[in-house]
Amino acid sequence: MEAKPTDITNEIPEIKFTKLFINGEFVDSVSGKTFETIDPRTGEVITRVAEGDKEDVDLAVKAAREAFDHGKWPRMSGYERGRIMMKFADLIEENVEEIAILDTINAGKILAHGKMLDIPFAAKNLRYYAGAADKIHGKTLKLSQEMQGYTLLEPIGVVGHIIPWNFPSAMFFHKCAPALAAGCTMIVKPAEQTPLSALYYAHLSKLAGIPDGVLNVVNGFGPTTGAAICSHMDIDKVSFTGSTEVGRVVMQAAATSNLKVVSLELGGKSPLIIFDDADLEKAVDLALLGVLYNKARLNNKLGEICVAGSRVYVQEGIYDAFVKKAAEKAKAWVVGDPFHPNTQQGPQVDKKQFNKILSYIDQGIREGATLLTGGKQVGEKGFYIEPTIFTDVKEDMQIVKDEIFGPVMALMKFKTVEEAIQKANNTRYGLAAGIITNNLNLANTVSRSIRAGVIWINCYFAFDFDCAFGGYKMSGFGKDLGMEALEKYLQTKSVVTPIYNSPW
Ligand code: ADP
Repeated sequence: MEAKPTDITNEIPEIKFTKLFINGEFVDSVSGKTFETIDPRTGEVITRVAEGDKEDVDLAVKAAREAFDHGKWPRMSGYERGRIMMKFADLIEENVEEIAILDTINAGKILAHGKMLDIPFAAKNLRYYAGAADKIHGKTLKLSQEMQGYTLLEPIGVVGHIIPWNFPSAMFFHKCAPALAAGCTMIVKPAEQTPLSALYYAHLSKLAGIPDGVLNVVNGFGPTTGAAICSHMDIDKVSFTGSTEVGRVVMQAAATSNLKVVSLELGGKSPLIIFDDADLEKAVDLALLGVLYNKARLNNKLGEICVAGSRVYVQEGIYDAFVKKAAEKAKAWVVGDPFHPNTQQGPQVDKKQFNKILSYIDQGIREGATLLTGGKQVGEKGFYIEPTIFTDVKEDMQIVKDEIFGPVMALMKFKTVEEAIQKANNTRYGLAAGIITNNLNLANTVSRSIRAGVIWINCYFAFDFDCAFGGYKMSGFGKDLGMEALEKYLQTKSVVTPIYNSPW
């Protein structure tokens, strides 16, 4: 009989790397403590990994500091750093299957996503910045008749990267690739839910030839390992992706320690605006893809998603038809084992996230929204949730205001362009937005009025390593991706000198 997506295969491969990676070696934590890492498909333990704490962060920072202050990496030519990064990218591609399996069992990611999107994107991202490593240029400055100067762009120093669970592979390289190209050294703290691929990347970094101490990985929890990074006196910059609440804590810790530079990529509650003239079928597909988060697979098109279009505004002329079609498609959505080729949506990452989503759904019902479809757990094992759509939603409901980080869409109607803009901007966040219409003039005009860091017109989740990504408002500051991300790991030094006897 053919396997169904809900028949979970419990096959777990051998997990090769479970320790901390400090100064080029896999080591136990100083305390000897370990913690469980869980398979969200079943809720069962995959393995235990070393649990880092302040002492381990101290050791990793010591190694990174030494590698920065006295080591080869920041001192070698950009070309040479780029060459090693290219090798790193090759090794990732050679091991794509094994790494994708790690993200599937650890983060619940659809296997095909990992193989075709996340991990190839990680390798491409490395190559993009590898190509930029020897093109880091300062300026020459004429200044005056008596003085001239130039600027040097120098690596910012030792960087702490704190990353979330939603894209364990892509996030690792959103942070590490530009930092490596800049010549920084670093400590990565993967999310406690998803340490496995990060440790694999640590192993590959060594094989690629990245010198010891340049790239360290310390697994652990936010309030311990994460907090130790944010308040460390010898870390020059923290690059954080996670919730707005924790982003605030990160910034406070930076301010009260050594005023390290901070960049924050935080939560979102992104609007998707669908105008009357949109192709209904396509609009519904994009809207579903938008909200079914990074677990979704749409037909054979794969969507890489971290900025759920969870507030969907549909113009009144197509609203009723849209609701009907969205309900039909959401009900037919295949939720199940992310290894299964037919699966369109895998499990949520852990029990905490799963419970949080279900409690938001309850709250939506209590606040008076209509549950059009979904709302419940799928099966009895693991952390699977039905694609959920609410209608009769009001702007002040919690399900419209808060980031839910799950497959929950709030569907609302609008009449005029002005109303759509006002509603889209009615949020403390500003990560992303989507616009669906065949009127490109309208789309471009509305794009200018939406306060968000990225606007997708007639597409969603169209990420590219050359396209800066990062929020407005309480979605943070400091971009990932693009040349903007490289800049955030560099600092400018001005060198000024007198010039004598110039007639000019
Ligand atoms: P999410 O809701 O996506 O889990 P979090 O903001 O809680 O987002 O977590 C994102 C990352 O921040 C994780 O690696 C987590 O361990 C880390 N983190 C959580 N709390 C803190 C903290 N107090 N200081 C530093 N890092 C933290």
